[in-house]
Amino acid sequence: MRFSQLFVQTLRETPSDAEVASHQLLARAGYIMKLASGIYSYTPLMLRVLQKVSNIVRDEMNKAGAQELLMPILQPADLWEESGRWALYGKELLRLKDRHDRELALAPTHEEVITSLARANLKSYKQLPVNLYQIQNKYRDEPRPRFGLLRGREFIMKDAYSFHSNQACLEREYDVMAEAYTAIFERCGLKTVMVRSDSGAIGGAVSHEFMLLTGNQPEGQQSGENDVVFAEDENGNMIYAANIEKAESRLERPVIDGAEWHGFQKYKEPTLIDTPKTDSIDKLCEFLDCLPWHICKTLVYVTDTGHKLAVMIRGDYEVEETKLKNLLKCNELRMATEAELHDWLGTKKGFVGFASDGLCFKSDDIRNPAFILDATSIIMDESVRHLKHFLIADNVPHKHWVGAHFNDATLALPFVDIRKVKEGDLCPVQDYKHLPLKITRGIEVGNIFQLGTKYSEAMKAMFADENGTEQPFIMGCYGIGVSRVAASAVERFHDADGILWPPAIAPYTLVIVPANTKDEVQSALAERLYKEALAAGWEVLLDDRDQRAGVKFKDADLLGFPLRVTVGKKAVEGLVEVKRRDLKESQDLPADGDLFDKLKALLAGWNPALS
Ligand code: ATP
Ligand code: MG
Repeated sequence: MRFSQLFVQTLRETPSDAEVASHQLLARAGYIMKLASGIYSYTPLMLRVLQKVSNIVRDEMNKAGAQELLMPILQPADLWEESGRWALYGKELLRLKDRHDRELALAPTHEEVITSLARANLKSYKQLPVNLYQIQNKYRDEPRPRFGLLRGREFIMKDAYSFHSNQACLEREYDVMAEAYTAIFERCGLKTVMVRSDSGAIGGAVSHEFMLLTGNQPEGQQSGENDVVFAEDENGNMIYAANIEKAESRLERPVIDGAEWHGFQKYKEPTLIDTPKTDSIDKLCEFLDCLPWHICKTLVYVTDTGHKLAVMIRGDYEVEETKLKNLLKCNELRMATEAELHDWLGTKKGFVGFASDGLCFKSDDIRNPAFILDATSIIMDESVRHLKHFLIADNVPHKHWVGAHFNDATLALPFVDIRKVKEGDLCPVQDYKHLPLKITRGIEVGNIFQLGTKYSEAMKAMFADENGTEQPFIMGCYGIGVSRVAASAVERFHDADGILWPPAIAPYTLVIVPANTKDEVQSALAERLYKEALAAGWEVLLDDRDQRAGVKFKDADLLGFPLRVTVGKKAVEGLVEVKRRDLKESQDLPADGDLFDKLKALLAGWNPALS
């Protein structure tokens, strides 16, 4: 390709809505062009990158035994009614009507269509297992489309779905996909971590996400939208890794001097004391000179179906709402408002608590029977189980109980894990329980999921087993954000001058730059090398523009081609200047002889996934 004919326009200014590096650079270098929020055109250079990522994905999926197909994006609502998702999906599902007033959706994912395909075509266990995949656009009306290609409303996904006659077979395929995913990301130049992830309200199912860790990015430019919890052993091996929505930690009473509140000495018996203006944990700690873990805090939530509940959790922890939603099997959850706390409990924020409802040390009357219907309306996190002589509110504004403890009946109730893991908590893996957990940020580039029979049961997609009995398919699904992978590579590999594409997904691997196109020697040598490179199978761009050398170098750096060969003044001596994008130094090499072998070797020495 000749640069003079290339459809690309680099910008001098970064678009004002571009917060993170990949969005800034892809827009500035003319790879993407915004049409509307979260919707982009891919220019020819970007398309080349996306095709390279797609081809790597395709190659590894095919090697793993999966078969490519292509399903419709435009899908009738009826199909979505069958799975129940038409009602459940919410606003992220883009819905439209055709001329006959029939409702349709633009697919955010393809479980319904693939399950209907399997239902119609797979009849016997003998036809299983099967893994089918496609690479195409997906549509999601994201609440916050941002970060360019990282979170679009229209984006490219590889989605695969496998069908099995038994769980063991699904688990084998799951492992095969996990391996394929690791290989795909590595070939794209990205070292990813496979983390345990939340499987949503279905519960029970196993799923993992592939994360590109971005914790070392500067504040304000954090492109990773997930918190990843991990523990490493002394040799830097990842012992545990989980999305914070799923992460667990081992509970231990804090090993700190004076773990019990010194003030307790004064209060041998539970005592209700005045705690004016202490409407937060911090203020309460300051007022009583205690620490957050001396406090049992109580939070009131309301579910999307209007169920009210209280959560008790140790004062130094936050509630992980994903865990709570899964427990309650609800889609949405919110905290009660100040007005609701007043109406329901006659209290104020900071003083919610049920010390005397029979759960704690006293068993007085239940203050508000309409609110606390039964013990299940109070959910107790494991973190409060071991509390002794703690502080707790009792819905009495400006007062707290001190020296409280749970009675035996309360301790016999279930305690659950709904807390958000904190940095420094202990690793939940038995043999590594001494390791402290760390938290970093990550971009989710892929997700694998043991679906089980969720869709096959709902949509009555059955096969006949060995005994001729009808059984629902056991399914797995596996996604990769192809466009997100490309943007993630830019997040991972860029510098102040521009992009550093990993060679395997670069739009062109080599750019040949005649420093002065008016110079006949330079121009002729550049032309010759360009033709030789093409003949040798290189993906090469010739910057034949009549521009100053500095401008061409800037563009080459911004656009991020892995190799640059400059044909400059030394062309008369038969020398060219070779520079690899990630190295500071360039080198002069003879233009004749084995130049292209040397370029190949230079490129092979750069494996971004290892750096
Ligand atoms: P997220 O949590 O980031 O919203 P998700 O878990 O909802 O993603 P999946 O349904 O698992 O996404 O989709 C499979 C893959 O598609 C993801 O791992 C991600 O790489 C990619 N992806 C999902 N949503 C988007 C988006 N809005 N823009 C670009 N890529 C996306
Ligand atoms: Mg996901």
